Amino acid sequence: MSKVLIFGHRSPDTDAITSAISFAYLQNKLGVEAEAVALGNPGAETQYALDHFNTKAPRVITNAASETDSVMLVDHNEFQQSVEDIEKVSVLAVVDHHRIANFHTTDPLYYRAEPVGCTNTIILKMFKENNVEIPADIAGLMLSAIVSDSLLFKSPTCTDEDKQAAEELAKIANVDLNEYGLAMLKAGTDTDSKSALELLDADAKSFPMGETKVRIGQVNVVDTQDVLKRQEEVLKVMNEQKELEGFDLVLLVVTDILESSSVGLVVGNPINAVEEAFGQIVEQHVIQLPGVVSRKKQVVPQLTKVLEK
Ligand code: MN
Ligand code: MN
Repeated sequence: MSKVLIFGHRSPDTDAITSAISFAYLQNKLGVEAEAVALGNPGAETQYALDHFNTKAPRVITNAASETDSVMLVDHNEFQQSVEDIEKVSVLAVVDHHRIANFHTTDPLYYRAEPVGCTNTIILKMFKENNVEIPADIAGLMLSAIVSDSLLFKSPTCTDEDKQAAEELAKIANVDLNEYGLAMLKAGTDTDSKSALELLDADAKSFPMGETKVRIGQVNVVDTQDVLKRQEEVLKVMNEQKELEGFDLVLLVVTDILESSSVGLVVGNPINAVEEAFGQIVEQHVIQLPGVVSRKKQVVPQLTKVLEK
């Protein structure tokens, strides 16, 4: 059998990149020849974590079938978020904490989904179940993902289990969780050096919702004005992406990590569905999303519910 490739979703975030690394490490220890790869380059936040814990970014692949016949998915399951030729390879395992949709296999597989805040929280359990010790650097990467996905435990997706996992991993990695966590999150908030397209694509995911093709990006900032001051430029790129890639609705959630609140930029249709989902008016393509920090829990289900009825 060829080497198993393990990867997270497209436009990878810190969990997507580091859960591939931690899960590949575990698989290697269990005797599986596996390599962590990625479907994109790490963003500034992820790079900060990789540098801090002396780890090279995983190799980026654009297709899998040319080099392997089997893969394992972490931090995603939906095919439109996966490698483009996912249908041509066999999925041996999935470890994920998202909704299950647009996913099917021909063969039996190991599938582990838990409604926790981070894939690495699940992977920590798997290390324990298999009695595999976690090296300090891997532990550091895993806790980075928990901090990232939970916005330092402020997201409603964060469970007690995530918090405990992060504390346990921080001991192994020998870091001060809050100090390191805030520094890492801040490293990901530099928007000035990024183009509008980079902002939009950095953490974007596509979701079919009923008949509507929706693209939702999210960017973390320490001041929403950092993005709103460039509104015109960003909206233009959102419109271009909508036309070029055939989306109906493109939403960019700009999240203030210090205030734990967001503002959305939106183009396309149906706008009234967006207003209904969030109970706010869209004014000049801007919608206030008070208290919203989690795309998974506070954006996708609300919008799906309106668009699928
Ligand atoms: Mn992710
Ligand atoms: Mn995740």
